[in-house]
Amino acid sequence: MNRVRINELLQRPEAGGEVTIHGWVRTCRHSKGFSFLEINDGSIIHNIQCVVDADVPNYDRDVKALQTGASVRVTGRLVDSPGKGQRFEIQAKDVHVYGNAEGYPLQKKGHTMEFLRSIAHLRARSNTFGAVLRVRNVMARAIHDFFQSRGFVYLHTPIITASDCEGAGEMFRVTTLDAGDPPRAEGEIDFAQDFFGKPTSLTVSGQLSAETAALALSDVYTFGPTFRAENSNTTRHLAEFWMVEPECAFFDLDDDVALAEAFLKHIFSTVLSECPDDMDFFNKRIDKTAIETLRHIVESPFERMSYSDAIEILSKSGKSFEFPIEWGLDLQSEHERYLTEEHVKRPLVLTDYPRDIKAFYMRQNDDGKTVAAMDVLVPKIGEIIGGSQREERLDRLQERMKEMGLPEEDYWWYLDTRKFGTAPHAGFGLGFERTIQFCTGMANIRDVIPFPRTPGSAEF
Ligand code: ATP
Ligand code: MG
Ligand code: MG
Ligand code: MG
Repeated sequence: MNRVRINELLQRPEAGGEVTIHGWVRTCRHSKGFSFLEINDGSIIHNIQCVVDADVPNYDRDVKALQTGASVRVTGRLVDSPGKGQRFEIQAKDVHVYGNAEGYPLQKKGHTMEFLRSIAHLRARSNTFGAVLRVRNVMARAIHDFFQSRGFVYLHTPIITASDCEGAGEMFRVTTLDAGDPPRAEGEIDFAQDFFGKPTSLTVSGQLSAETAALALSDVYTFGPTFRAENSNTTRHLAEFWMVEPECAFFDLDDDVALAEAFLKHIFSTVLSECPDDMDFFNKRIDKTAIETLRHIVESPFERMSYSDAIEILSKSGKSFEFPIEWGLDLQSEHERYLTEEHVKRPLVLTDYPRDIKAFYMRQNDDGKTVAAMDVLVPKIGEIIGGSQREERLDRLQERMKEMGLPEEDYWWYLDTRKFGTAPHAGFGLGFERTIQFCTGMANIRDVIPFPRTPGSAEF
């Protein structure tokens, strides 16, 4: 088909010539003798206005019947627009209607996010979700660019796994159904039907596999779907989300923190430079500080603080938190937000958490109480990255696993990497959706993924 996308059209240096565009009608207004159609094709937040004279052959039959949501092809001359806020418009000479849209649920007025979630199959046609999906795409590319330009190897870790990354979250168990089996009632799960007789679950993190690859290839990263049976309704947890997990050999906690900072700065500055129109939209409609916040992050160094110092600050803050906090407890979102929004007023890297609230694989510090963990916290969201230097000393790892009651035979392959050529190594996990949420200012994580998976939402 002879077509040009609206984003390409709007970048032309000047008007002139005949063009053909395809898209969906956002609004139409009919006057005496002509109609105005606002068309959007999802390539850019802006619509292009088409002016259709009543003398086009199918005007009365098709054009006058057009409704918001209809799909069309318009051919005509690209001319300078006399209207404010738009450079060009199309003086249409031919309009073809692919499909009208009787009863279209996405009318022009602002819909609530809850309503849009109930029509996830159509919401990509709204301004907000079009912008979210374009930012999501640019961020995905920026993530690959960052690691590829530094020579990291992109690693695909399994989705069905027998390891549970101890403590990362509740898992979804994998089971098999024979074709034609009736659906099982609750309590009737036959565990013999687990993955060919072996209990497995959907991955909660690719880290342990990524570690084995880093101890062979030095620098690797994963970027894939992750599953956690989070049976709570928060605005920052999904049951299916995407995680980015770099893992590097011959790397310590300081290297890890520096990598996380350079990485976040890269993806935020890419979004700022490559999504100016969409970021402008978020800044106007969703969060008035969105652009300023990102610019500030790109330009200024992150703050770094130990968990113990953070606890002291929280205890002395005089704030009454819903969840009281003391040394030894994990931070809740309200504590993370206090630290980033009211205390340092920018991203904060917290390090050296109590070992009892962290996973077995984190490297023990000499104080016997803490581990070489780091979380990156940002205003509005809290934690977007969780990482650590891993325990590379076989005896310390075995000791810790014993204390935590983890059977060595389940982790023989993991222990092998410490027996054969072990090396200091570190990595982190970044929640992709939380990062998009942060960039765009969207309040709920369900609204930054095309089809959210949360308790009660898995329609297709
Ligand atoms: P939280 O404390 O918020 O539950 P976590 O400490 O359980 O997060 P990690 O195991 O450290 O999370 O995972 C690394 C990153 O993955 C987190 O920093 C976060 O950005 C993201 N993440 C974790 N759980 C979810 C989830 N259920 N939905 C979306 N993103 C998540
Ligand atoms: Mg969690
Ligand atoms: Mg956490
Ligand atoms: Mg974490």
